[in-house]
Amino acid sequence: KHLPYFCRGEVVRGFGRGSKELGIPTANFSEEVVESFPSDISTGIYYGWACVGSGNVHKMVLSIGWNPYYKNVKKSVETHIIHTFKEDFYGEVLSIIIVGYIRPEKNFDSLEALIAAIQNDIEEAKRALDLPEHQKWKDDNFFHPAN
Ligand code: ADP
Ligand code: MG
Repeated sequence: KHLPYFCRGEVVRGFGRGSKELGIPTANFSEEVVESFPSDISTGIYYGWACVGSGNVHKMVLSIGWNPYYKNVKKSVETHIIHTFKEDFYGEVLSIIIVGYIRPEKNFDSLEALIAAIQNDIEEAKRALDLPEHQKWKDDNFFHPAN
């Protein structure tokens, strides 16, 4: 019910869950940005569009989950941009539009199962975002504010 959801904020260091080691780096938003999310937004995996600084707009998958660093009482919001970046972009401003929901959070029996699930999420996000009703958000003025 909260979708599409527009959000902009600085990329901060996460708590080193090793996303990058899995080949799936996730850009974390600061606590303040996470606090500004609707408190009743469902945890789980979402998809949408993302843009770093004034760069190009790319497809993304996003997880809203319970943050183990804060004993699972606070949420974390992490964006995996479906694009290969030359360098990390900690400290830069990440703008996102969340347009759809994929699935709830799950626990997996193995790392392989987790990675396979994320790969599925990425494929589903790519397909869904090609639909005209989702494609239109890519060109939204939110990403290219007129000065
Ligand atoms: P952390 O625990 O600090 O969030 P990650 O292993 O999740 O570390 O890596 C996230 C960082 O990787 C981002 O903050 C960003 O600087 C960088 N990065 C590089 N490519 C991507 C990408 N395609 N999507 C998201 N972050 C990326
Ligand atoms: Mg991360």
